Amino acid sequence: YLEQVQQSERLQMVAHLTAAVAHEIRNPVTVVRGFLQLYQQNPAFDAADRSKFALMIDELNTVEQVTSQFLSIAKPNREILVDEKVHVQEVLEGVASLLGSYAMLSNKHIDIEIEEGCTIFMNAVEFKQVIINLIKNALEASDTGAMVHVTARLVKQKVEIKIVDQGCGMTEEEVKALGTPFYSLKTNGTGLGLMICFNIVEKVNGTIKYVSEKGVGTTVILTFPATDGG
Ligand code: ADP
Ligand code: MG
Repeated sequence: YLEQVQQSERLQMVAHLTAAVAHEIRNPVTVVRGFLQLYQQNPAFDAADRSKFALMIDELNTVEQVTSQFLSIAKPNREILVDEKVHVQEVLEGVASLLGSYAMLSNKHIDIEIEEGCTIFMNAVEFKQVIINLIKNALEASDTGAMVHVTARLVKQKVEIKIVDQGCGMTEEEVKALGTPFYSLKTNGTGLGLMICFNIVEKVNGTIKYVSEKGVGTTVILTFPATDGG
């Protein structure tokens, strides 16, 4: 029982912390975006530069939505995220190219194989956030030169996404600890990524399963209810 109390106190602390951090991030983001919007309309910049401003604004919008989502974990129902039909292929390709350059820095690679017609119904930003977290973890667990494989396919009204790495792997006990706030074996880890992922997946009636072997690698299997008609 004491353990349960401690656990819920720790969760409370996470909630307060995330709300505070999210709040502090939002204001500077709004300021920077304001300036970028001004630059974007400034005829002194050529079309190529202006399109880069548009990209920056877009990324800041993502930052803002992700922070809103943090706030909504801290204070449920404060922000209602809109669900939409999400094209899995589009998001996975976007994330793979986003993280691809980050991976390249340490000579790691991402390979994706997506079956056509995989669509799910949930908030697109949250879906992207789950995928980014899981692929980042896979890359961080991997050695230089390694490949992370991402696949998606339709299986019995469900979209199944697998993220496979041949990284450090985990013991059974380590797998059990996943999702616990602040559980991290990394020097610079937060141990919040999977807590947030589990939360999002659960909310949309998805599942997340880990198959891992120490020293061999890890496979994360995600499933989401597929939308009607694929
Ligand atoms: P963080 O990445 O900040 O450490 P996460 O919640 O994302 O926090 O992950 C928690 C811990 O789970 C990691 O520190 C790592 O020890 C373990 N982990 C997660 N994914 C993998 C993976 N693919 N391979 C090996 N260990 C993993
Ligand atoms: Mg992580």
